[in-house]
Amino acid sequence: MQTQVIIPLEEFPETGMHLSGDADGSIFGIDGADLRSTGPMHYELQAQLYDTELLVRGNISAPFRLRCDRCLREFDYIATAEAITLSYDVKDKPSLDITEDLREELVLELPSYPKCEISGLECEINSTFGDFRLDKDPEPGVNSATPSGQSVWDALDQFPTK
Ligand SMILES: [Zn+2]
Repeated sequence: MQTQVIIPLEEFPETGMHLSGDADGSIFGIDGADLRSTGPMHYELQAQLYDTELLVRGNISAPFRLRCDRCLREFDYIATAEAITLSYDVKDKPSLDITEDLREELVLELPSYPKCEISGLECEINSTFGDFRLDKDPEPGVNSATPSGQSVWDALDQFPTK
């Protein structure tokens, strides 16, 4: 399988070029205990040449296996970067290697703190230790009481109402 995504620029068609295929997952160089690449990166791109500027737009995706930060269960996750736009000055270049840029776009889509929920799974720790799905500390209540224990808003209660 190809390990590079290269756009040929010689005799580039005026109508643009559609690029579709798969690049080996090894391009990610991601093979850790908490996160590893499990398959090729799929790309569907449209390239258009404007004078010396090449514009590349499209969607890319790749499968990964992640480990949930909370319950430590491993789960599959498809990282997708949609409607990406890359632009290059390609003056006098016979071809362009965009592998590294595509790789980067997808890596940016990977969660820093993976949780089961991003793959639509119920995190097991939820039922054991309560529901953390919102993943948010409860808002500390706004304390409107003055040191005397009276609310600063009490005065408003004495405001005549009709
Ligand atoms: Zn989990």
